[in-house]
Amino acid sequence: VCPTGALSEKEHIWNVVRQLADPGKVVVVQTAPAVRAALGEEFGMAPGTLVTGKMVAALRKLGFNYVFDTDFAADATIMEEGAELVDRLTRFQNGDPTVKLPILTSCCPAWVNFFESQFPDLLDIPSSAKSPQQMFGAIAKSYFAQKMNIDPKNMVVVSVMPCLAKKYEASRPEFNREVDISISTRELAHLIKKANIDFNNLPEEDFDHPLGESTGASVIFGTTGGVIEAAVRTAYEVITGETLGKVDFEELRGFEGIRSASVKVGDLDLNIGIAHGLGNARLLLEEIRGGNPNNYHAIEIMACPGGCIGGGGQPYHHGNSEILKQRQAAIYEEDRNKAIRKSHENPYIKEMYANYFGKPMSHKAHELLHTHYEPKEKI
Ligand code: SF4
Repeated sequence: VCPTGALSEKEHIWNVVRQLADPGKVVVVQTAPAVRAALGEEFGMAPGTLVTGKMVAALRKLGFNYVFDTDFAADATIMEEGAELVDRLTRFQNGDPTVKLPILTSCCPAWVNFFESQFPDLLDIPSSAKSPQQMFGAIAKSYFAQKMNIDPKNMVVVSVMPCLAKKYEASRPEFNREVDISISTRELAHLIKKANIDFNNLPEEDFDHPLGESTGASVIFGTTGGVIEAAVRTAYEVITGETLGKVDFEELRGFEGIRSASVKVGDLDLNIGIAHGLGNARLLLEEIRGGNPNNYHAIEIMACPGGCIGGGGQPYHHGNSEILKQRQAAIYEEDRNKAIRKSHENPYIKEMYANYFGKPMSHKAHELLHTHYEPKEKI
């Protein structure tokens, strides 16, 4: 057994190569939002250099049949998690005593594992929405496979993640191999180098459609505070029926380990808590267990410092917070540059709901896009 994990990283890369070489397989790749803000560092570029277009070109050169974006699934996550948030808030405002608040985000597998083992008494408050990685796999092997007349048995879904915990998430039995192989940002860099692709001189290319189209809201999933900001952009418009003039919620941004903010949504002051790093998450959860004295309605937690931009599968940053800040700035830049910045306005998401899921939290959506949590032994 390789004590550093390098061997298992290598095995994952060769597994990808084997699948790409199999003519009977349709190999689909998805890339998480934080990857594009850090991959360039492996090729000598300055931290925070956005390499979205070059990354897409490299994946196409490697031979993937479809190059898609986890950001599409992040938009779907907001449709589902946002609907849960709106449902719980509406019931809360109507005086329903059974409603569980705050809702907790659930897209970080290290965090999910943490609350399953450390806070088994609170398993009914996290959102049941799957993470974007798993939503993507479920959508690719159902909606997309059906649309393209591909037998899902012949489809291989590879994900490129900033994260090592995503490998564990993909292997959880309840997800039924929706994602076949999860590799890290560093592993993708290895693969590109092994294939002798001149990354720095690649042209900028676009993701394939339909699962490559995304909004600014989905890009900010890559940084602490981003998931909840994306959810607020959608929940605000659903609850108030008004168009959000300014989509940037600066009060939710930053790097402090625990942050809180109140956002006006119609008549409601929506109280939001944000933590990154599991030590900070524990403090916030103990507060909830103790009676939620700050009246939080929603809480975002990410296990890694800075969120996914600081994930364990990213190029090493050796604790240098300046590198994380530059990656975070790149994420917000990509958000600003997007023509559409709210998940519910993504035209391909609208099409998917109109033609396949019906509406968020429908029976089919529950079946494919939601999960459940189990108490686990304390580590
Ligand atoms: Fe993975 Fe870290 Fe992002 Fe959680 S915060 S999903 S552990 S990279």
